[in-house]
Amino acid sequence: MIDLHVHSEFSVDSESRLEDIARVAKSRGLEFVGVSDHYEMRFEKLKYSFDLEEFLRAVDSVKSDVTILKGVEWGWDCEGSVPIFDGFDYVSLSIHRCDEQIENIDDCYEDFLNRMLKCVERAEFDVLDHFDFIRRYMPSNPPIPDRLRPLVMDILRIISDKGSAIELNTEGFSIFGEPHPPIWVLKEMRRMEIPVTIGSDAHKLENIGRDVEKALELIRDLGFEEVVIFKERSMEALRI
Ligand SMILES: [Zn+2]
Ligand SMILES: [Zn+2]
Repeated sequence: MIDLHVHSEFSVDSESRLEDIARVAKSRGLEFVGVSDHYEMRFEKLKYSFDLEEFLRAVDSVKSDVTILKGVEWGWDCEGSVPIFDGFDYVSLSIHRCDEQIENIDDCYEDFLNRMLKCVERAEFDVLDHFDFIRRYMPSNPPIPDRLRPLVMDILRIISDKGSAIELNTEGFSIFGEPHPPIWVLKEMRRMEIPVTIGSDAHKLENIGRDVEKALELIRDLGFEEVVIFKERSMEALRI
């Protein structure tokens, strides 16, 4: 079992120590835990970040039976230069917002997905995180509007061509009963043979591994036969 989206105290919004993450991951039966802390760029400036070298050294110093993978949750608005993440096992690309001036939900989704399209075209990344992230924070958690499905398909085609993966982020299960991305997108991923990985987005220790079993059950039902992890920027498949 895997959880490739856990935040540590290297993120501004988590206090989890790496040693505790490893301990809890083991107690939950995880074989691989990926720590991917926020490295958020806005308007070419760093909004939240952490010392990349210090993080890598800190992970190396943790003694654990669980394999800790070194990830980074790279939040980007698709502007300016692309950072280099030397020494990491994987880079997770994350889009976290639509334009703040937009109030209408449909238009926010359209702006968000257009940003995502631009980012996935430009970025070098291993996995795209929480596909429909803004759903989490909108009143009543509306799904992607049907009229925007062609835009979603354009994004999926680019990801497929690049050979990157998409995360099934389990946090949606407890908020609106469906993961990020929604099931129809997971079905398209399966059809297009886009690899899937799983992450809980745990900002607290108690959420590590949350709903990973449920996610596995769901993707097995959809016909997936493996999930992927990353080591030194190479994808490895695990049978499920
Ligand atoms: Zn995120
Ligand atoms: Zn996250």
